[in-house]
Amino acid sequence: MAEERVLYEGKAKITYATDDPNVVRLYYKDSATAFDGKKKGTIKDKGPINSAITEVFFKLLEKAGVATHYIDRPSDREMRVKMLRMIPLEIVVRNVTAGSLAKRMGIPEGTALSSTILEYYYKDDSLGDPLLCESHIHALEICSKENLAKIGKTAFKVNEVLTPFLAQRDIKLIDFKLEFGFDSEGEILLGDEISPDSCRLWDAKTNEKMDKDRFRRDLGQVEEFYAELNRRITS
Ligand code: UDP
Repeated sequence: MAEERVLYEGKAKITYATDDPNVVRLYYKDSATAFDGKKKGTIKDKGPINSAITEVFFKLLEKAGVATHYIDRPSDREMRVKMLRMIPLEIVVRNVTAGSLAKRMGIPEGTALSSTILEYYYKDDSLGDPLLCESHIHALEICSKENLAKIGKTAFKVNEVLTPFLAQRDIKLIDFKLEFGFDSEGEILLGDEISPDSCRLWDAKTNEKMDKDRFRRDLGQVEEFYAELNRRITS
């Protein structure tokens, strides 16, 4: 059946073709990986939770004027989205020091930053997703100056929309990763997902980690914290 053709299977999602060439169906899996796929596991109900959280965020962002690939969510693990030609960049926005930034700079995790950081990583598993600066992106012709400026502006806007929304739910947005692509009309849309797999989300009162770091770092209670995030964000 043409509709069931797998276009791409990634670590957390399967992309299926549909009978509309401009629309694909994403199937959210429970499988989890970390450290370039070296660590593998399953987080029960991660698929439905990540798709539900992504749907809430994308709807909120659309309302705020951010164009996303989201169309609808026909079942708890499935999302229909616009087909995009992805730009091979991971755009990371940071409000508080954590993860690779803390390690690279020797700054303790949880240190507030005096201003928001925007970083670019080249999306290539075989290279380990290296950090790039703007001049690499321009010289290697990964993305035009104009489009990179547009992406950066949108990434800050996403931060401005999600930070207060999450704060109202007692969640601190520490950092997050975004991906963008071009639709059939050449417009840049926000793609992929925004979920506990791609964000650092800490409890505002206790600073407990509620996101994928629980899996990456073997902190325990992974499923409980994903379920709690789902409750706070989607209800
Ligand atoms: N991130 C992601 N996919 C990646 C790398 C990072 O979604 O391949 C997210 C990660 O969850 C965090 C942010 O981007 O919210 C910054 O990650 P960092 O650079 O600190 O890398 P990590 O510590 O995850 O290696």
